[in-house]
Amino acid sequence: MDVEERFQELVQEAIDYVQTGFHTQGPQGTGESEKVEHQPRNRHQGYDSGLDEQIRSCRLCRLHEKRRNAVPGAGNADADVMFIGEGPGEQEDIQGLPFVGKAGQLLTKMLAAIELTREEVYITNVVKCRPPGNRAPLPDEVETCFPYLEQQIRMIGPSIIMCLGGPASKTLLKTDIGITKLRGKLYSFNEIPVIATYHPAAVLRFPERYKRDVWNDLKLLRDLYRDMRSSSM
Ligand code: URA
Repeated sequence: MDVEERFQELVQEAIDYVQTGFHTQGPQGTGESEKVEHQPRNRHQGYDSGLDEQIRSCRLCRLHEKRRNAVPGAGNADADVMFIGEGPGEQEDIQGLPFVGKAGQLLTKMLAAIELTREEVYITNVVKCRPPGNRAPLPDEVETCFPYLEQQIRMIGPSIIMCLGGPASKTLLKTDIGITKLRGKLYSFNEIPVIATYHPAAVLRFPERYKRDVWNDLKLLRDLYRDMRSSSM
């Protein structure tokens, strides 16, 4: 089976999983490739967990009023690859962790398809508290929360960022251009390469419309990351 077929299979498994609550197979990896060896990078500052405490007790916008938990982010604080979503949903709000609901199940599979694990990467959101009823975050909420994301990017110092969905992409790239036009190309944020793709929730709702493009964007990420690692050896 080639790697694209494997990706199609992983997306189907994720859809089956969220629709039936049943795992058809273990989620991780193809079992065929080597583990990613991280090259040491010196330009990141190191993650200060004080920032997570600040986020958890933040009351700077109205989103704190109805949250159960703020969701700073999770994963490797020294990650090479960072994923940015829109904002916590219901499960994330309950657990205080990003992407642990249905879209998160698919994100885990997407990572596996390019031989990454959640433990290797860092996953966060544009806004750290759940917008009530899962509405889109309002511009003033995004603006108020953005300095937290900027600090996280500075402290982690990823080599590549992938934005998941229009809101994350527009926020980071400071543009009004829609995700359909943004995706598939390379951008940068503070000199860090950025790739935009559709949100996993969109893939779950309309797999036939989005999964091929998401797979192409993941391949772009995988190939860029490979090139970076081989040129730093
Ligand atoms: N959707 C997001 O954008 N972020 C999460 O953490 C979960 C779902």
